[in-house]
Amino acid sequence: MSSEIRLTGGAVVTQDAARRVIECGEVAFDPATGKITYAGEVRGGEGDSSGAAGSGRLGAVTDVTGCVVMPGLVNAHTHSGMTPLRGYAEDMNLQDWLAKVRAFEVRLTAEDLRAGLELALVEMLKTGTTTFADMFLWDRRMLESVVTSGMRVLAAPAIFGYDAVGYPAASPSDGRAVLDLTERLAAEFAGDGQIRLAFGPHAPYTCTPELLADVAARAGRLGLPIQIHLSESAPEVDSCLRDYGRTPVAHAAACGIFDHPVLVAHCAHPTDAEIELLAGADAAVAHNPVSNLKLGAGVAPVRRFLDAGVRLGLGTDSVASNNNLDLFEEIKAGILMQRGVHRSPDIVRSGDFLDMATCGGAAAVRFPEVGVLEAGRPADIVILDATGTRATPLYDATSYLAFAASGSADVRDVYVGGRHVVAGSRVTSLDEAAVRERVAHTAARVRRELAATAT
Ligand SMILES: [Zn+2]
Repeated sequence: MSSEIRLTGGAVVTQDAARRVIECGEVAFDPATGKITYAGEVRGGEGDSSGAAGSGRLGAVTDVTGCVVMPGLVNAHTHSGMTPLRGYAEDMNLQDWLAKVRAFEVRLTAEDLRAGLELALVEMLKTGTTTFADMFLWDRRMLESVVTSGMRVLAAPAIFGYDAVGYPAASPSDGRAVLDLTERLAAEFAGDGQIRLAFGPHAPYTCTPELLADVAARAGRLGLPIQIHLSESAPEVDSCLRDYGRTPVAHAAACGIFDHPVLVAHCAHPTDAEIELLAGADAAVAHNPVSNLKLGAGVAPVRRFLDAGVRLGLGTDSVASNNNLDLFEEIKAGILMQRGVHRSPDIVRSGDFLDMATCGGAAAVRFPEVGVLEAGRPADIVILDATGTRATPLYDATSYLAFAASGSADVRDVYVGGRHVVAGSRVTSLDEAAVRERVAHTAARVRRELAATAT
């Protein structure tokens, strides 16, 4: 008797090396190992369609006819604890936005941040994301929330300078303490399948060259990757040139950052030399089209990145500059932004962005084993209901995923490592109603506090 679960009859978008799309396919996995056992055409042979343990050679069958089955999505850049700031700072440029957000954030307690994180986890799962890279005030309890949710994270505790006490109410730690905490957490979770750590120097305009060099040395000693914001906006590039005589990527490289694995957020304004540097290093760029558009920060040169061989992931950034975590919106907006700016319908293909949101993003966030439906891979699987109006008729599953799919409307089931974390569009691993209530309370309290200070 097999413990295998077989998802049969759906259109399977494998994202394997051949990028197979199988119109009537099957994905099977073993819940005991959490690994995919098969991905391909529907197999003949016995099974048990009741969903109970079968007597046949193959495992129990779950009929997913009318669905699209794809790998779990990878959000390559976010700040998930910031959900209490959704819609709070609107119609602003990056500098003004940062100041307004900061005034709110300093009032958040550790408990507020954990509630914010859990809301993000619920939102990501419900829209088909199973792995994410995140820079925030990570601590052990927040990582435990991720473990509970079932998701996978490359977590970078954020550093805003040696002496900067980021968000006083939440984290009394200065930059040195955050660096030490990162090392402790990395040791604690070493070898973990869900939790991986990275150093998180925020950006060259918040972290000194000495701090960046310190991070590079620590990354080299421990073999940890680094997450950093670089070249998000033109004013940032100007200030880096003014302060250090170098553009942001070149400056970070001069501090030793690119001697180690790096995930760069944004990179909307790189020079040709910087693109070459990114392609030659063990680096990846997390492209955040909606956040860049919303803050008017710029348009990343995706075609030039692809041509140069730069590894790319796709991110939402935080909900404060988005305002949601639905990666399907990011795929569509990203493609449209490139085509519009370059006045070319084939400057990027939908498959390029689907890759960024799955297999490419997985490599970018240092979970290279996920993002593909293939035997032996972790069973991170998303099932979308493609019987609705948005998917009718369904000629091509890839174009549906890129241009018509809605994470919140269409995602029906999500498995991570074979664990059924979204069933019938409901998250099974966290209490959504309770989480929403906690975040609503946080938002109301901080708004009251800010109003009281203003008067
Ligand atoms: Zn960011």
